[in-house]
Amino acid sequence: MLSHEEARRKVIEQVGKMGGPHARASVSVWDALGLVLAQEVKTDRDYPPFDRSTRDGYAVCSRDVKAGAQLKCAGEIKAGDTVTEPLAAGTCVQIMTGAAVPSGADAVIMIEYTQRDGELVRFERAAQAGQNIVPRGSEAQAGQTVLKPGMRLGFAELALAAQVGAVQLQCAKRPQVAILSTGDEVVLIDQQPGPFQIRNSNTVSLAAQVRIAGGEPVVLGNAADRAEDLGEKIERGLKKDALVLTGGVSMGKYDLVESVLKALGAEFFFDAVAIRPGKPAVFAICQGKPVFGLPGNPVSTMVTFQLFVTPAIDLLSGAEGHSLPLVEARLGEALNERPGLAHFLPARIEWRGAEPGVKALKWQGSGDIAALAGANCFLVVPAGREKIATGERVSVWLRKDVV
Ligand code: AMP
Ligand code: MG
Repeated sequence: MLSHEEARRKVIEQVGKMGGPHARASVSVWDALGLVLAQEVKTDRDYPPFDRSTRDGYAVCSRDVKAGAQLKCAGEIKAGDTVTEPLAAGTCVQIMTGAAVPSGADAVIMIEYTQRDGELVRFERAAQAGQNIVPRGSEAQAGQTVLKPGMRLGFAELALAAQVGAVQLQCAKRPQVAILSTGDEVVLIDQQPGPFQIRNSNTVSLAAQVRIAGGEPVVLGNAADRAEDLGEKIERGLKKDALVLTGGVSMGKYDLVESVLKALGAEFFFDAVAIRPGKPAVFAICQGKPVFGLPGNPVSTMVTFQLFVTPAIDLLSGAEGHSLPLVEARLGEALNERPGLAHFLPARIEWRGAEPGVKALKWQGSGDIAALAGANCFLVVPAGREKIATGERVSVWLRKDVV
């Protein structure tokens, strides 16, 4: 059985071969949050475009300013002013944050370290060349590539595009991810379930996870535990960029997902992973599309989606598929787990002391959505570990949507 790292690598290897993105669109920076860039963005000029003061104070020639020096103030420059005149020898000018430093000046002294007496400015401290000035072109030079294809556009990336005037961006279209639940016990979420039925909450979590991962969810509804119905709906799902199924992958008599996929020509890369929850997770390529058969228990569905489907959506969008982003924290309460499988325990991480601390939450196993809804992370217990003492360092996988 593969470890979750190996299984994730398999997904990255196989979906990586499909070479995304397959479709692009021109998108306004206002609408591009979370999309993957499909072009290079170059600067239109130097950044900053002039030597920029980072403080309110006085622009000086550093040679003129020893501690206690006095200079005549020859004027004022505010942000946005056109600056062409050089600093006259033996003078200073008052300057504001964001304003252009005149030629001849090589330092800005913060106003806090000066005293003004009419036209005269007295400096408490010696100046150092370069102080409080960001030189022209030091952030980026004209024509330099500042954003590359494959980068996911967050707020900083969008601000950078806006700064250089790239107001329309070629982006990968969100891959369409079909979502199909299975099971005779499953009813629509706005239906009253019978005493032994359950609402289809997995399609809701999956649709949300697809969105967060950068895909566009296409909810196909629910397939009965019958090969014909399942087969028909799977074929519909295979028309999208990827297909995610939930339920029907365990060992039960009515767990038909694998056999139906096989009949449709699927090639399987794993059909079990050494994790709890989520052990029966399946990954296959069927008719050229990645297909994920996730277990039906809701927490298993959520964990296996994050582990295996998220990197596939990255790759289908032209971004990189990266390994699991883990952080370390001190265990707040000792653990005693069954060894053999890696465990992903709903947990809470807090940043109170010098180091983050984490505690697993009480839960009833992989059906317990309520426990996960109070968790902001998963505590990752490696397959070999059984007892972990309070105070040990453990790996934590943050829930990106709530932290
Ligand atoms: P399965 O993997 O098909 O054996 O399903 C395991 C359990 O997961 C079922 O007994 C249900 O309690 C639950 N389950 C399956 N499908 C869903 C769904 N779409 N939404 C919520 N819970 C589900
Ligand atoms: Mg089922």
